[in-house]
Amino acid sequence: MTDKPLDIAVKPGAPLAQYLIDQAPVLFLVLDQNGIISKVNRFAARQLGPDTAGKAFQEIIVDFHHTFRLDHAVACSEKAHLLGFNTPGSKITTYRCHFYLSTGQVLVFGHLDMDEISSLTNELVGANQELNNLTRKLNKKNRELERANATILELTRTDPLTRLANRRYFDERIEQVISLTARKSQPLSLIMTDIDKFKTVNDTYGHDAGDRVLKGYAELMKTSTRTEDLVARFGGEEFIILLPLTDIHDAHAYAERIRLALPEKDLLENGHPITASFGVSQLMPEEDSKSFIKRTDTALYKAKTTGRNKTVIATGGETPHQDS
Ligand code: GH3
Ligand code: MG
Ligand code: MG
Repeated sequence: MTDKPLDIAVKPGAPLAQYLIDQAPVLFLVLDQNGIISKVNRFAARQLGPDTAGKAFQEIIVDFHHTFRLDHAVACSEKAHLLGFNTPGSKITTYRCHFYLSTGQVLVFGHLDMDEISSLTNELVGANQELNNLTRKLNKKNRELERANATILELTRTDPLTRLANRRYFDERIEQVISLTARKSQPLSLIMTDIDKFKTVNDTYGHDAGDRVLKGYAELMKTSTRTEDLVARFGGEEFIILLPLTDIHDAHAYAERIRLALPEKDLLENGHPITASFGVSQLMPEEDSKSFIKRTDTALYKAKTTGRNKTVIATGGETPHQDS
């Protein structure tokens, strides 16, 4: 017997047809012109025994339900056709007659219909294509879901009015940046800024005008800093900027540049200059985020209490002010 896959050309989807012939629970026998079994598929080899190939076809048949014309089988084999025997589970349904085998099995002779194999193949190819389409759709949905998740994540980190990072995200990031900075012994600075007399802006020009000022100021800070800097709305009209790889002198220069540019922007478009006060500091060795922010806030408070519209550099050990 040979376990070699049968060489059958069925189009389209020939490999699948071959697979079916190899794997399906269907007996496939090829007879030579003398009615000797020359090839069997795997299932046939398992069912009829490994030495089936080489036997005369009649040898494995002990009884006939109908008269079986061997010359018909020979005629088929001459054309290199296969003889197929259906067993339960097979999808090939063209029955012709029954054979009672010496093995005790009952076989139903079915003419092996290549069209039927092809349509079965096509069915499977179609199902496969459908599966591919579904997989593609699923992948697309997954990508949409990923984008939606990214948007949600972005929203949880963003202040809706100014589109800057919110305080929650800032608190998260400063811890990461501090630990990275400390490990690499690099400078890290902080700017805190608060719009001067902002309540007056609201009271005089209305809340919407106040909102426009907040948005304009946010925009100015964004365009005045580098992409690696983190500008966040700390609350109300107070903002905070984290400046990696920046020492106190550069941080002071950044703050001054923003401070001087702010009134120039004429954010209210009525000549009323908006100003802001600034506190700046550089992270000290071993300092944690709480102390770092407190010292900067204290410097800002000093700028407020000593005339506003100015930048104060933080020193260590001062008590921060308590208002919001
Ligand atoms: P100072 O110079 O001392 O900072 O005075 P200030 O008036 O800026 O400070 P104060 O804390 O007295 O007032 C802040 C105001 O900011 C009050 C609050 O209504 C306003 N504010 C906070 N958030 C918003 C906002 O989202 N939009 C608007 N339009 N106003 C806001
Ligand atoms: Mg203010
Ligand atoms: Mg304030």
